[in-house]
Amino acid sequence: MRPDSSRPDSEAHLRADRVGVESARRIVLKVGTSTLTGGKAVVDPRRITALAEDVAAVVRQRREVIVVSSGAIVTGAGLLGQRRPVRGLSHKQALAAVGQPLLMQRYAAAFESLGLRVGQVLLTQRDFANRRQYVNARRTLEALLGMGIVPIVNENDTVSIEEIQIGDNDTLSALVANLVGADLLVILSDVEGLMTDDPRRHRDARLIPEVTRIDASVLRAARQSRTAQGVGGMATKITAARIATEAGVTTIVTGGERPQPLVRLLEGERHGTVFVPEPRPRSGRRRWLALGIPARGTVVIDDGAREALRRGGSLLAAGVVDVQGTFEPGEAILIRDTGGAEVARGVSSYPSAQVVRIMGIRSTEIARVLGVRAPKEVVHRDNLILAGNEGDRAVKRTR
Ligand code: GLU
Repeated sequence: MRPDSSRPDSEAHLRADRVGVESARRIVLKVGTSTLTGGKAVVDPRRITALAEDVAAVVRQRREVIVVSSGAIVTGAGLLGQRRPVRGLSHKQALAAVGQPLLMQRYAAAFESLGLRVGQVLLTQRDFANRRQYVNARRTLEALLGMGIVPIVNENDTVSIEEIQIGDNDTLSALVANLVGADLLVILSDVEGLMTDDPRRHRDARLIPEVTRIDASVLRAARQSRTAQGVGGMATKITAARIATEAGVTTIVTGGERPQPLVRLLEGERHGTVFVPEPRPRSGRRRWLALGIPARGTVVIDDGAREALRRGGSLLAAGVVDVQGTFEPGEAILIRDTGGAEVARGVSSYPSAQVVRIMGIRSTEIARVLGVRAPKEVVHRDNLILAGNEGDRAVKRTR
């Protein structure tokens, strides 16, 4: 029987319901290297078994789970008997090449004994930055889930050169949660959640149970803590929480040590830190923009257009005064005012070469200028997110 202190109090229970933990249907579970190794030099197979049992129990409840797992590099290092910290990108890539298949083999065996199959999905930043690839990656993950397979995702470390590297799996898990429109992202860590201070140095450090706004005090608390083997520490977990909550995904950072952390969360038990999500962006394109992917070009707009965007309107050709960079329809662009300030990010309906031809003219004239029927808006309002809207949300300490 569980001790009384671990039972959810009714207030916490209500809060959890508000952010939709127990009702979550599609869940991304991120497992870090230190959770898999328990602080040792190699992955502990018992931890993979325990994780598979936790996930399988949730899948049996007809929920979908995508696992984002680290551990390729440490598995490679273990296999080759290398105990010292790995330095140098190509060395890490070589170890990931050796370790990833063995890691997958372990996952496959653990899940198979519970009657489930796994599928390996390796992603790079490019898969998120290019919208077609992004949509395609989503279809693959959905096809796997549709077949009852548990996708195991990692960064494609062996080919990820610095420019296209995501770099840490906390961020990767948030990108995946956004990609599949998850209801819940759970990041398992070797710390219990976001603490007010480093618990190893401050005995009165307390867990922050709920964050409704990622502001300076949250970032300060995050800087106090680092995990031993993972890439990120708490700072990347906060980045991940920001990406995910902006896409409408409830995010929980919690300790991976406890038994069945996922099952227990879904049963209503509260542990770790919950990051409360923003309302889910209306369109898929907006969700994609919320990833903060690099823009391909810039359009400069006049003051009238800027006001129209701020009032929730679309960007019309008449308001465009300049075009910088080269982009295709469907790519992300920055929208700036004539003073250089960022007004919005959006997905262009036109290639840059055509925006140059139609800028400053009325929408009714576009077909005549281009000689073909074309969209009325350069950027439709559903495909826009205004700058300065990141939502600096305040921390609430309620426990
Ligand atoms: N992708 C790396 C690995 O599998 C880990 C990255 C991380 O720990 O965030 O070893």
